[in-house]
Amino acid sequence: MGNLDVGNRVSGSTFLQGHVQRELEMAIGSKFVSLEPRELQEQASDWSWMSKYLQYKNLGVPAADFIVRPANTSEVQAIMRLAADYKIPVVPRGGGTGTQGGTFAPYGGIAMDLTRLDEIIDIDETSLVATVGAGIDGPTLESALNAKGLTLSHYPGSYHLGATIGGFVAARGSGVVSTKYGKAEDQVLQVEVVMPSGEVVTTMPVPSHAAGSDLLQTFVGSEGTLGVITQVAMRVDRIPENYGFLSFSFPDIFAGIEAGRLIMTNRLRPSVIRLYDEADSQKLKDWVGTPFTGTLMVVMCDGNQELIDYEMRSITKLVESAGGTSLGPDVGRIWWEGKYEPYAKGKLPQPPLLYGTFDTVGRFEALSRIYSAKKHAIETEFAEYGARYTAHLSHWYDWGAMIYDRFYVDNPPADPEEAMALHDRLWDVGVRAGIEAGGILNDHHGVGMKLGRFMRLQHGTGFDLMKSLKEAWDPDGIMNPGKLGFGPPSNSQW
Ligand SMILES: Cc1cc2nc3c(=O)[nH]c(=O)nc-3n(C[C@H](O)[C@H](O)[C@H](O)COP(=O)(O)OP(=O)(O)OC[C@H]3O[C@@H](n4cnc5c(N)ncnc54)[C@H](O)[C@@H]3O)c2cc1C
Repeated sequence: MGNLDVGNRVSGSTFLQGHVQRELEMAIGSKFVSLEPRELQEQASDWSWMSKYLQYKNLGVPAADFIVRPANTSEVQAIMRLAADYKIPVVPRGGGTGTQGGTFAPYGGIAMDLTRLDEIIDIDETSLVATVGAGIDGPTLESALNAKGLTLSHYPGSYHLGATIGGFVAARGSGVVSTKYGKAEDQVLQVEVVMPSGEVVTTMPVPSHAAGSDLLQTFVGSEGTLGVITQVAMRVDRIPENYGFLSFSFPDIFAGIEAGRLIMTNRLRPSVIRLYDEADSQKLKDWVGTPFTGTLMVVMCDGNQELIDYEMRSITKLVESAGGTSLGPDVGRIWWEGKYEPYAKGKLPQPPLLYGTFDTVGRFEALSRIYSAKKHAIETEFAEYGARYTAHLSHWYDWGAMIYDRFYVDNPPADPEEAMALHDRLWDVGVRAGIEAGGILNDHHGVGMKLGRFMRLQHGTGFDLMKSLKEAWDPDGIMNPGKLGFGPPSNSQW
């Protein structure tokens, strides 16, 4: 027997880490497991201001210990079983285009990159349903659909940044034509989910039924806190035959809100209504080249020409009755052609600029109140920092609309702690003003880490029910801990 050198004895946690690494490698192949620090940082990062700011300051984002890249549901199951046995946190990641810190790993653990689950499993051309692996990105699915004359009708601003179908559903996403075609939550028919225990659950093939309460919509919007979505069936549409454009100016945003209300409550269905306040139409002019500033509305109708003509005539009449002045089709067409331009490299806001997007949603009766309350709160309470507030309304419903509102502080404090504190205070003041005025936390960006602290304020005692569901389905709290306000893992020693 050789002498044991106790000075070099491996620590329990290092041994455990090596042990788990080897088990993960056996489960999915060593090529698909990584502990490389740069990759761990990339996996944890997203498009939140927090992530961009920490990177800008070279401080690093809270990252996992392992990255796994499973190729299919069975591999996801194997990883989840292992994570459940060792009570290791698991953070699912699609394209990492989220804006709420949803891919941060504040408790370490396993970052699960789902982009290898990119199979197109079936395109049912009779029912117009596409079934895909959750990790496929929008443009890849779109080009396969386009080849069959179909489209997903889901074009978020992050379309060319790698956002995945699983991410659309997990974070209740919305695209530019949602007013007619719905959000991801309306388009999804069915999901397959690997639960924290490693078991697989498949919801029913149709989203409308009376067979009890709805499992599908419990997973939709759960942002990886209840399980890993591995497969998704989405409604698809025929590519519209044609498009028609309108644009209008208004004396103020409130007249524009009334015009939007009239369009929607008369049950017309344009695919796009975008109403910009003065500050945001100036931004649009700078980015896309629309030849107008002031309160601006862009409308797009699609379908066959007869439907377009009818809708455009009816919409024009309603908008003019609310005080709108027609600017003709050009502004709308320029917007449609340049719609991804504001998200192009170099145009997106970036640190040291301090910014945040609220995307508040509310009923028509509350919209003007919410807009005024938030603008006032941001611009007066943070006047010493020269805080700016801009807004447009771009997803409209039968009952209300979403205000895509942002704050900007051009020269935030240089000290990271002060800048982070200012960021959080801006969110606090904006969110509270919105909720007090009758608004809902947000419409389509999800909650992540950033907004978790507002979940109780938003849901009241409903949040306790959400927490007990989480505790029942994920008793050790290993699924994406720290997100949606659910707090840390419960029993993990990791
Ligand atoms: C420039 C820009 C523009 C944007 N525009 C829009 C827009 O117009 N509309 C919109 O809705 N959003 C928009 N977003 C936000 C973001 O793109 C969406 O939320 C998108 O749906 C996220 O998809 P993802 O695959 O990148 O998800 P990720 O960022 O990877 O993940 C988001 C959250 O979902 C969880 N998750 C991801 N995939 C799964 C899965 N398969 N199973 C379980 N949990 C999962 C993650 O754990 C995380 O909590 C924008 C973002 C940027 C940066």
